[in-house]
Amino acid sequence: MLDTFIHKGKRKRLVELLEKKGISDEAVLEAIGAIPRHGFVEGAFSAEAYEDKALPIHAGQTISQPFTVAFQTQLLQIKKGQKVLEIGTGSAYQAAILAKMGAKVYSIEREARLHREAAVRLEDLGLEVMLKYGDGTQGWLENAPYQGIIVTAASPSVPDSLMKQMAIGGRMVIPVGSLEKQRMYLVKRVNRAEWTKEILQSFKFVPLIGRFGFPDQD
Ligand code: SAH
Repeated sequence: MLDTFIHKGKRKRLVELLEKKGISDEAVLEAIGAIPRHGFVEGAFSAEAYEDKALPIHAGQTISQPFTVAFQTQLLQIKKGQKVLEIGTGSAYQAAILAKMGAKVYSIEREARLHREAAVRLEDLGLEVMLKYGDGTQGWLENAPYQGIIVTAASPSVPDSLMKQMAIGGRMVIPVGSLEKQRMYLVKRVNRAEWTKEILQSFKFVPLIGRFGFPDQD
């Protein structure tokens, strides 16, 4: 995908806006400054790619608002080489940000078309991310435990399956609530048997649909 001088300028302004909105993690801001978000949205929306808003992608889904991506990523406090599991690959923008930061990213998507397109996009950018097609509410046991788990769709609760796949000392960020509105939860695994939970600000995500998510309406 072509990355022009104009795109770079728009990205720099987006980074400045996110800083004003309270994002302070340099590694997160650097990744947002580097990843061409216009390549993750449909052509018709590319002019709006650097505005701080969610945009439609295929299969009736959305690419999260840049502030939301930055907020969730900052909460993960991920370091280079650590394993992160993402539920809801979508456009793969969030996965690209994490990979750019040096995380070893595993990402699951339940919409076949999005899963396929994500693989092409990430390859174009030369980013290595392990992608899986299926229901992410059950996690990805083969590669567990994860230092970070990020759920990018609205969940009715924190799935036990995901809690069990967290490393000790690991963090999970997940929006929990109704279909209309959720609060961001930050879950930390203290030891084998204990987790803590902090409830943060409100967001609105598309639903997490699956065995431990919301039921499929179709
Ligand atoms: N992280 C994405 C955001 C996409 S929106 C991005 O950066 O663009 C959330 C995505 O979660 C949608 O693509 C939706 O299809 C997917 N999803 C919903 N339920 C899921 C489940 N049970 N397992 C995996 N993906 C799911």
